[in-house]
Amino acid sequence: MNIIDGKAFAEKIREKVKSQVKILKQNHNIVPGLAVVLVGEDPASKVYVKNKGIQTKNVGMNSFEYKLDEKVDETKLLDLVKKLNDDPNVHGILCQLPLPKHLNEDMIINTIKPDKDVDGFHISNVGLLNTGQKSMVPCTPLGCLMLLREFVGNLEGKKATVIGRSNIVGKPMFNLLLSENCTVTVVHSKTKNIEEICINSDILVAAVGRPNFVKSSWVKPGSVIIDVGINRISIEENGETKAKLVGDVDFENCSKVANGITPVPGGVGPMTISCLLANTLVACCRSNNIKEPQELTL
Ligand code: NAP
Repeated sequence: MNIIDGKAFAEKIREKVKSQVKILKQNHNIVPGLAVVLVGEDPASKVYVKNKGIQTKNVGMNSFEYKLDEKVDETKLLDLVKKLNDDPNVHGILCQLPLPKHLNEDMIINTIKPDKDVDGFHISNVGLLNTGQKSMVPCTPLGCLMLLREFVGNLEGKKATVIGRSNIVGKPMFNLLLSENCTVTVVHSKTKNIEEICINSDILVAAVGRPNFVKSSWVKPGSVIIDVGINRISIEENGETKAKLVGDVDFENCSKVANGITPVPGGVGPMTISCLLANTLVACCRSNNIKEPQELTL
């Protein structure tokens, strides 16, 4: 069994982004800029936004952060997005999800200019990906695909199963694996006999949001598992209750059967931010008619 080290691979991507940012500055006097909009006080979102800001600056890009009140008026948020659409120093725009319930998430995402939609959630980018055209690819599935390409190599003809059909992970993952010529099955909460489907899969991508959902008896010997899940559980240690981060896969037992598996933490998570930086760089190159670095995109 091999642990697929997403943390190390994500670091390599950030290094590549950093050197490309340097070249852009030297040769074209352009600094890529990422604008992140945070609405409200959700603790997890605040941590994500803070990390994104730090890593954006670390690779030499400009980071613009906008923090809006929980009760912000929808028009005010839309006006901000439109302002960022028109700002030539901003090449990527991201609205941290989830947004408070009174805001129309779809409308806000679809107001972002598709070329600046570095999360790849705009309906135009969804359609482009779906039809196999050049698009902004959602960061988490992009990170999963990069790990699979690195670890497995050619994916053609592989049987892949994606557990979960969300718009941000499951569905784009299906499309990406299909464009790699995998034979892909998507399973969800209404699927019958999930384990029978999983056991025949060369590649298993779990994006469910349930700790230890994938059992070792579901895993084909020699297969590769990408665990997207991030679940916070409580464990008892030395009489104390502690919080622990786990994925959707029973790592301890599945790792004995699979050939490769991503850990949680240290697998897909770090890839997501690195792919966000890669997408921002790509968006900047495209908007300036500069050839985008092939190794950082699809
Ligand atoms: P989501 O929107 O809640 O979707 C979960 C999917 O799992 C749904 O399609 C759901 O099926 C399916 N599901 C739930 N219970 C199931 C069951 N018992 N059997 C089979 N399928 C079941 O979640 P998400 O946004 O895709 O995220 C999934 C996980 O990935 C979460 O833990 C999240 O925190 C994590 N995540 C990690 C990253 C990262 O950077 N590493 C990024 C995004 C998400 P239905 O459609 O039928 O309800």
